[in-house]
Amino acid sequence: MKTLKTLSEMKAWSREAHQDGKTIGLVPTMGYLHEGHLSLVRKSISTCDRTVVSIFVNPRQFGPNEDLDAYPRDEESDRSKLDQLGVDALFLPTADEMYPEGFQTYVHVEEITDKLCGKSRRELFRGVTTIVLKLFHLVQPHSAFFGEKDRQQLEVIRKMVDDLNLDIEIVGLPIIRELDGLALSSRNQYLGEAERETAKSLHEALQQAQQLVAQGESSAETLRSRMRSIIEREGQAQVDYISVCDPKRFEELEEVRGKAMIALAVHVGKARLIDNCLIERI
Ligand code: AMP
Repeated sequence: MKTLKTLSEMKAWSREAHQDGKTIGLVPTMGYLHEGHLSLVRKSISTCDRTVVSIFVNPRQFGPNEDLDAYPRDEESDRSKLDQLGVDALFLPTADEMYPEGFQTYVHVEEITDKLCGKSRRELFRGVTTIVLKLFHLVQPHSAFFGEKDRQQLEVIRKMVDDLNLDIEIVGLPIIRELDGLALSSRNQYLGEAERETAKSLHEALQQAQQLVAQGESSAETLRSRMRSIIEREGQAQVDYISVCDPKRFEELEEVRGKAMIALAVHVGKARLIDNCLIERI
C-alpha cells in the first residue's frame, strides 16, 4: 500500500491510475478504523480496480465546542488494517495543505442541511461537502463509498453530486453494529462501562419503533415519545433529537405512510451518538 501525504502525490497517483485505464474507488474517513469503515473498503476493493482510503480529521466540520482535539487517532493500527485488506493507496493530507492560509471557499447544500444533525452542528455539513468535494477533485474517483450510519450526510453528498453534475457513483452501505446492536463508531471509544450500557438504548428504541409500525402504529408523535422513554429510562442520556421524518427531505412527519426514516442523536457522557433506520408502512 502506498502512503500519499501531499496533494501533488495524490494527484500524480490518480493520473497514473487513469492513464492505465483503472477504475478508482474512494473511501473517505476520519480514521480510527473499525468494521464499519472496513465494510466500505471491502466493497470498494471488490468493485473497483484501485482503492484509495483517505484519513483526515477535518477541522472545518467541527464546531468550537466539539471534540476535534479529543477525536481518537491511531495511524499505525489504521495503516495495518488497510494494508491487510489490500488497499492500494492511503491518503493522509495535512490540514495545512487542505486549508492553506487564506482559504475561503465552501460548498453549501441548502435546506436538507438545516435539519437533524445540521440543527445542532452548524458547521458540520458545510465542512463535509467542502472536504468531500476537494477529495473528489484530488482523487478523481469513479465511485465513492459512504455508510448509511450517517444517512443525512449520504443524502447531502448525493445532492451535491447531483446538483453539481459530478460524474461519480455514490455507494451507500448498511450500518455495521456490535452484537447488542450499538452502531460501530470511532466515538464509542469515549464510552465508560455504564455509558456503554446506556448506549444500547438507541438501537432498542429504533427496534421498538419498527415493531410498533409493524403492528400498525402510524402516529409519528407516538413513535417519538416511545423512543424517548426508552432512551431516557436510565437518566444518563441526553437527547439531541428523535426524528420520524421524510427520508430524503428530512421534514418531520405527523403520520407514517409509505417510506420514512427514524433517526436519533443522543449525548451519552462525552459521546454524541447517532443511529437511524428506514421504515415502510404500506
Ligand atoms: P467517519 O470516519 O466517522 O467520518 O466515517 C467514515 C465513513 O464510514 C462514513 O461514510 C461513515 O458513514 C462510515 N461509517 C462509520 N460508521 C459506520 C458503521 N457503523 N457502519 C457503516 N458505515 C460506517
